Amino acid sequence: MEESTANGLKQERRRRKRITQIRRGILSIFVIWFVFSVGICTSLLIKVHTLEEKMNYLLDNFTVSGKMEEESKQTPGEAGESAYFDLEGGIDGYEEDYDIAQAVNQKDNLAGPGDPHKVYLTFDDGPSNNTAQILDLLKKYQVKATFFVIGREDEESKALYQRIVAEGHTLAMHSYSHKYSALYQSLESFEQDFSRIQNYLYEITGQECLFYRFPGGSSNHVSSTDMKSFISYLNEQGITYFDWNVSSGDATSQAYTPEELVENVMTDVVKYKTSIVLMHDAETKVSTVKALEPMIQALQGIGAEILPIDENTTVVQHIAAANVGKQ
Ligand code: ZN
Repeated sequence: MEESTANGLKQERRRRKRITQIRRGILSIFVIWFVFSVGICTSLLIKVHTLEEKMNYLLDNFTVSGKMEEESKQTPGEAGESAYFDLEGGIDGYEEDYDIAQAVNQKDNLAGPGDPHKVYLTFDDGPSNNTAQILDLLKKYQVKATFFVIGREDEESKALYQRIVAEGHTLAMHSYSHKYSALYQSLESFEQDFSRIQNYLYEITGQECLFYRFPGGSSNHVSSTDMKSFISYLNEQGITYFDWNVSSGDATSQAYTPEELVENVMTDVVKYKTSIVLMHDAETKVSTVKALEPMIQALQGIGAEILPIDENTTVVQHIAAANVGKQ
């Protein structure tokens, strides 16, 4: 009797021990699983955050850094397919209007045999340490161009804004910050940036700027706000915005030689009555400066008239402002 009781107790102890072991096992598995999950989640969150920061950095430093692409090599004839600037392909929605505007401009703007060519050389992103050299070359050939500038506060830049105006070129706006994420965040942020560059340039030059170029162009795929709301705002301010129909290609990652830049421009200029030529005035755009002299010579060689943008210039817009109206 006593023996069987002792055996029963032994068995009971063994059973409890097993249960305790199983419980511990389950608990350990749970703890390991929990720690593992938290670890994975944390590392994913860190990765997402880092990527977000990198993306914002990339968006904000397109051509200002000079190392990345901004305004792409888009020409009306190749609109859409050649959209080089397609970081976030999903955020477009302008394709349709873009094509319509292109078709209208394109048809009226095609040069027939014997038609004169009006060429507007435009330089984005300046002033830079190349501006003076660009201005010297333009002076040498007695040619006027258009500078779509951004806000720079150093004394040299201030003198360059003044020199651009004094030498008869068109000083135009290209946003103050050129930071895509801030500029295109909302209509309010765009308005603030716009007022800042407009007032700043007026303060320095005493001249009101009447023309604007959107960083990345009006057909950019980066803005999270509908570009039409910005266009409508500019319409209301009496500001005409310009895109381009001829690109030198100096904004693309491909390192074109000066000769290739000239060739890119000349190939397209002959097609149009009015050519708005996209180039960049930025520290790293050395090829652009080298291409300028042979480009002017080639343009003058075909009898093209090189002009600064003014109120009589045929507008070239990827989204037709006239169809957008005012707010
Ligand atoms: Zn730019």
